[in-house]
Amino acid sequence: MCFIGFYLFLSVFIYTSNGIPDSVRILGLFESENQMEEIAFRYAVDRVNSARHVLPRTRVLGQVERVSLRDSFTASKKVCNFLRYGLVGVFGPSSDTATHIQSLCDAFELPHVETRYDRKRKRYRDDSAVNLYPHPETLSKAYYDLVKSWGWKNVALLYEQGSSLTELQELMKAQDINFHLKELPLEGDVRPLLKEIRKDSISQIVLACSSKRILDILRQANQVGLISTYHSYVLTSLDLQTVDLAEFRDSGVNITGYSIIDPTKSEVANAVSDWVFGELRYGRALDLTEKKLTVSAALIYDAVLLFSKALHDLDRSQDISVRPMNCNSPDQTTYGSALVSYMKLMELDGLTGSIKFDGRGYRTQFSLDIIEYSHTEDFKKIGTWTPSYGTNFTRNYQDVYAQIIEGLQNRTFRVTTILTQPYVMLVPDWEALGLEGNDRFEGFAVELINDISEILKFNYKIHVVEDGNYGSLDANGQWNGMIKELLDQKADVAIGDLSINYDRETAVDFTTPFLNTGISILYKKAQKKPPSLFSFLLPFSVDVWIYMATAYLGVSVLLFILARITPFEWLNPHPCSPNPEELETQFNLLNSLWFAIGSLMQQGCDYLPKAVSLRLVAALWWFFTLIMISSYTANLAAFLTVERMDSPIESAEDLAKQTKIKYGCVGSGSTIAFFRDSKIPTYQRMWSFMESARPSVFNKNTPEGIDRVIKSNGGYAFMTESATIEYQTERNCDLVQIGGNLDSKGYGVALPHGSPFTGAFSSAVLQLLESNKILILKTKWWKEKHGGGRCGKKESKSLSSANELGLANVGGVFVVLLLGLIAASIVGLFEFFWKARKLAGDEVESIKAEMFKELKFALSCSGEDTKPVRKRQRIGDSDSNINRNSVNRSAIWKSNGPNSNNNSNS
Ligand code: GLU
Repeated sequence: MCFIGFYLFLSVFIYTSNGIPDSVRILGLFESENQMEEIAFRYAVDRVNSARHVLPRTRVLGQVERVSLRDSFTASKKVCNFLRYGLVGVFGPSSDTATHIQSLCDAFELPHVETRYDRKRKRYRDDSAVNLYPHPETLSKAYYDLVKSWGWKNVALLYEQGSSLTELQELMKAQDINFHLKELPLEGDVRPLLKEIRKDSISQIVLACSSKRILDILRQANQVGLISTYHSYVLTSLDLQTVDLAEFRDSGVNITGYSIIDPTKSEVANAVSDWVFGELRYGRALDLTEKKLTVSAALIYDAVLLFSKALHDLDRSQDISVRPMNCNSPDQTTYGSALVSYMKLMELDGLTGSIKFDGRGYRTQFSLDIIEYSHTEDFKKIGTWTPSYGTNFTRNYQDVYAQIIEGLQNRTFRVTTILTQPYVMLVPDWEALGLEGNDRFEGFAVELINDISEILKFNYKIHVVEDGNYGSLDANGQWNGMIKELLDQKADVAIGDLSINYDRETAVDFTTPFLNTGISILYKKAQKKPPSLFSFLLPFSVDVWIYMATAYLGVSVLLFILARITPFEWLNPHPCSPNPEELETQFNLLNSLWFAIGSLMQQGCDYLPKAVSLRLVAALWWFFTLIMISSYTANLAAFLTVERMDSPIESAEDLAKQTKIKYGCVGSGSTIAFFRDSKIPTYQRMWSFMESARPSVFNKNTPEGIDRVIKSNGGYAFMTESATIEYQTERNCDLVQIGGNLDSKGYGVALPHGSPFTGAFSSAVLQLLESNKILILKTKWWKEKHGGGRCGKKESKSLSSANELGLANVGGVFVVLLLGLIAASIVGLFEFFWKARKLAGDEVESIKAEMFKELKFALSCSGEDTKPVRKRQRIGDSDSNINRNSVNRSAIWKSNGPNSNNNSNS
């Protein structure tokens, strides 16, 4: 670059110009069929000759020679002939013959101007050639940007045999696009190849072929069903807009491409009108419009202009002496490489937009129009592309949406569906009623598609899916059911209880869900449980009963021990005799047990504790019994009022744990896919069970599964969606939904992948959701029609189940009791110490010996309920006086066996 700049600088300021000859000759080589290029060449020469600011003193002689496509020998010979008369430059040809011409020109350093798409991408700056065709790599980037902005994911890439794929190199670098490469044979039948694309359900196609083949290939694509609303094409030919695609106008196919010629430009319009009206001058009649102008013709025009301007500029700085040359004796022009360098440094606004070259001598800076075939006006510009800014669409979403809505009107969609209550059903006696077409069907989904059609103004024709399946992938990766019909273009819309899931989303497009649901279990309603003989035990759980029994025994034993320890429970058995020989306690073991049970049963007892410690125990025990008995009574009432149902399963986990009750689902739906793909151990276990079960637990369709539940009488549970279960349990009171939903999903309307109408359908569904129409439809078809509401109100959960009280419910009472008992024991011990200290003070014995004696007696295994009166007590202390008041009652307990007196001395 620096070198060229320096060179030009020197040329301008140092070189002394001697002037260009009065006439210079340029040679244009054209294939015989390229009449438009030829005319463009002649026209461009005329324009140069008539322009005052380009080579004003020189006449350019444009020589035209026809060459045949592959005859490079004759073409070279023709160049040699003209070399003899002196040539300043050679243009063309556009076939591969140009390679030979270029080597010839290189040898003589004769400028060679090309306008062809060069697959070999030679580095032009090192030779005598200049190519005005946009650089293939940059073009490839343009295709990539377009495909990316459409969001294509699965693309068939058709390219011509022998092409180097250079122009698609950048495109194929796309990581997130799955390309299926297909090489088009040079000519003839391409249908086998197109059929493969159809079989793979690919709807997005990049067609990289010359403009001459476009029509033929699209015709063949049409024959194999690859031309429809659901197919989109990106064509790489820059001459796309010259192809007449009128025959595909009503197919709805989406064809997009690029154009480098802006037909609205005044230069283009002028050139075209001059060519058309100057037909006599250029020797050919031309049927041409701005849109039909080919890139090669426009480039030839631009090339002649660029060349002439460069020559003009060079003339000012260098002597351009043109001399005859002979192909047999090597010679070189003196200006050739300088002229080529000048051309590469120039900038020009031509018919193909701005012409400039990058540092490497490639035309990488250009702008393209994004054009789309529209059914109203052939090709329409929808945006522009530039290397720096990428794609820029000029139409907004509203325009696109309006166009789609327009395309929808008065179209007739083929709607595939499946018969499942209450989504789609045959009208009862439809044959007898003479119903036909859509009138044969009724149901929620039938009304829904009708409402959508009213919003979007299209017609539709409902049919039931041929194979009776919803749509799932088989082992070979092939779809069945409604999904297959969409893929095979046997239907345009699928509606019904068709769940949206990931697998299906990869094959077809779904609208916004119109109904939310989830997998659940349909099962026969549980039978009434026969009343149990021991149902009175139900209000408490087993551990509560055990804890209660333990508490009872604990309290009784504590009463017994404390009564023996505390001095205040030892009473005078004969209140009339103030100095009894012995004292007696009422709380022997049996009486303690009796006291505790009497309290527990709320009956009371005919003796009561006197000592503080025992009273503490008694108070807490009564509190305990109060709470426990109240809780028991309340819960027993609940147990007696509810019907106990004998249901062997209450959740999916229960089903998974057992093998007696068989369970299954629809064999080609989303439920089976859920279990098959689940990573949750319970569902994986259920899937293994279902898969291995013989006879099969899978059903052809939903009605078959429901029937099986009814007939199996509890032997079969059917897993399907809760919306369907809700409909069934409304009408069939023997059926019930078990547990909640295992997942969460929705039903959607499916359309073929890439359908332009999905957005419009989604908007219509949203509209219906927001206006509550779908809710109204749901109420109508679930609760009202065909016996809805027959099974009445469902029992509320609180009534249908009464739960036994566990330790968690009543544990606090036990804690209070336990703390109370500990407190009572401490008080009892305190009483014991206090009395022992008192007795020890009166008598000679030490307090320790006194305590030991008393403790030994209290804890002796014999459990005596009488003991001898100690001296101090006999004299009469306050305690004995208290005891006197209860003497009569105490007397009853005096004798507890023949040994009662034997231990009096102990
Ligand atoms: N709604 C399901 C589907 O679209 C069919 C019923 C089922 O699988 O439970 O496949």
